[in-house]
Amino acid sequence: MIGGDCNLKKIGAVVAAIAAVALIAFIAWDSIFNCTVTKDFFAMDTVISVKVTGGKAKECTDEIEKRIQELDGILTRHKPTSEISLINKNKGGTLSDKTAEYFRLLLDVSKKSGGAFDFTLGAVSDLWSFGKSPSVPDEKELAKALSESGYENVSLSGNNLTLKSGIVDFGAAGKGIALDEIRTILEDTKAKEAIISVGGSVLIYGKNEAKVGIRDPYGNAGRSIATLNLSGSCISTSGSYERCFEENGTTYHHILNPETGFPVQNELVSVTVISQSGLLSDALSTACFVLGIEEGTKLAEEYGCEAVFITKDKTVFATNGVAAKIEITDNTYNLKTYEN
Ligand code: AMP
Ligand code: MG
Repeated sequence: MIGGDCNLKKIGAVVAAIAAVALIAFIAWDSIFNCTVTKDFFAMDTVISVKVTGGKAKECTDEIEKRIQELDGILTRHKPTSEISLINKNKGGTLSDKTAEYFRLLLDVSKKSGGAFDFTLGAVSDLWSFGKSPSVPDEKELAKALSESGYENVSLSGNNLTLKSGIVDFGAAGKGIALDEIRTILEDTKAKEAIISVGGSVLIYGKNEAKVGIRDPYGNAGRSIATLNLSGSCISTSGSYERCFEENGTTYHHILNPETGFPVQNELVSVTVISQSGLLSDALSTACFVLGIEEGTKLAEEYGCEAVFITKDKTVFATNGVAAKIEITDNTYNLKTYEN
């Protein structure tokens, strides 16, 4: 009996040793192959935060930074050599395949939104000087810039673009486009999970759900009034609290009504759109802000996207597909879904 006890003890010790080795191996494997790399940098006129877990995380974050800086040099109209600047200067041109695809998708959003989304308002935006020293523009100058704008002035045949008049401005979709580019890099480097934030647009990559805050429209940038629990999605928010200024008691902001050239005045303070596509989440958040709750919901549904509208009186309207994923964290806000 005593000998049997001793054998059992030996077997137990061996099993424990094997388990310990296996655990150490697992931890080592996990820390080598599932390590998390974070990086913050400035591009596209905003701070970009990258957090990648698994795969070639370091290589992935470096590649993301490189690609975003390149994209900035293609899409911004404030760099004279960018593809968009050359289009504006030459009134068109032959586009790269990717840029042609962006134009095709944005023309589609412009048409489906009935012109509420219009990426040719560059000259109108410039007159307001948002983000610099903004002021209400001269009436005549505004009317002229507006008459020369309009997505109907853009025609695309294959990769050949003609711009009759107006100034192309991808400000409403560039950050979302960046998320789509980043997703490709995450896939190529076999990342497991990632959270990427490009200004008001966020990508939640991977199987696990993560919480994304919806910014407090009346508070500072770090405060949220609700959270969305999502996986594998792009989330973009457009808000009237961004790039705004006050003149003679009236507040003006950067999301323009293409019919008047003035900032949109409706019941909304922000719109968040959730989509598989970064470009769509970004473009539609702007479009839905211009359209308002009813028309905006229809547009989001047409693209198979979900939306969250926040009104000036602190009501949060969520479309059916996202209602179960939202949690209000500031009880001065009331959640309404289309079911109630
Ligand atoms: P976002 O913050 O994504 O809603 O984009 C707003 C930016 O898009 C503005 O700063 C302008 O550069 C541009 N923009 C303003 N109004 C419109 C509009 N109605 N359609 C498309 N782009 C717009
Ligand atoms: Mg947008």
